[in-house]
Amino acid sequence: MTTPLVIKLGGRVLTDAAALNALFSTVHKLAALRPLVLVHGGGDQVQDLLQRLGEVSTKTAGQRVTPAGHMPIVAGVLAGDVNSQLCAVAQQHGLKSVGLTLQAGETLICAVDTSRGAVGIPTPNSSKLLQLLIDSDYLPILSSIGVSADGQRLNVNADLAAAAVAQVLHADLILLTDVAGILDRDGLLIDSINATQAPQLISDGVVRDGMVVKLNAALQAAQHSRRSIAVAGWQDANALTRLAKGEAAGTRIRY
Ligand code: ADP
Ligand code: MG
Repeated sequence: MTTPLVIKLGGRVLTDAAALNALFSTVHKLAALRPLVLVHGGGDQVQDLLQRLGEVSTKTAGQRVTPAGHMPIVAGVLAGDVNSQLCAVAQQHGLKSVGLTLQAGETLICAVDTSRGAVGIPTPNSSKLLQLLIDSDYLPILSSIGVSADGQRLNVNADLAAAAVAQVLHADLILLTDVAGILDRDGLLIDSINATQAPQLISDGVVRDGMVVKLNAALQAAQHSRRSIAVAGWQDANALTRLAKGEAAGTRIRY
């Protein structure tokens, strides 16, 4: 059987209707060639609603600190609003989308990142549900809401979630974000990053914020799968087409 492909989308893609449509046209074409699973975040949307409700939200090393009291908002935005919007767009493009969380089918199990509150560190657990769905031509779309072994709902960074989902399915992984890839000090695209260069780029302050966790997630996924992982932009639908064909686009993270 063909290797499945996990595609991670930053939630910001929903703010660009043209890019969103182009992207899902590409996803529709790819879905005819190989099993696909989408994983998404939605940090901006979470931030917006928290702010409108007068809540203060902070991040450490690119990951949101989530007091337990924020979980109804975080889960509402990610598993509710953003997930259902993406499912609707997918369906408009002829895809049989199914909205899920990381907990569905116990796909991932999460440890609690106590330093950040109700934040989960995901580990791969079961491929059964996703396999069942992709075997029947459904497109699973997972929001990055997880659950701990003792039933606590958790906010999970979507790059870490996507890497764990790819691991559970022995799938390829593409991380699509709002920039063309990982950029150097001068703002130029870096073609490829290896395991020695990655920590260097982070300690030099070239890779910051959300890109730190993305680069680390990609590196871990590359090392685990013994395949390189791409970080590319969702603005350019061609990038996804090229990557799916095994051609270069964005930044390749090598193990
Ligand atoms: P996503 O929702 O795709 O995970 P994030 O905001 O978490 O988005 O991470 C992507 C962001 O990382 C970029 O929009 C950019 O602001 C930031 N960033 C920090 N360092 C870099 C870098 N070296 N190259 C590209 N983006 C970077
Ligand atoms: Mg991010």
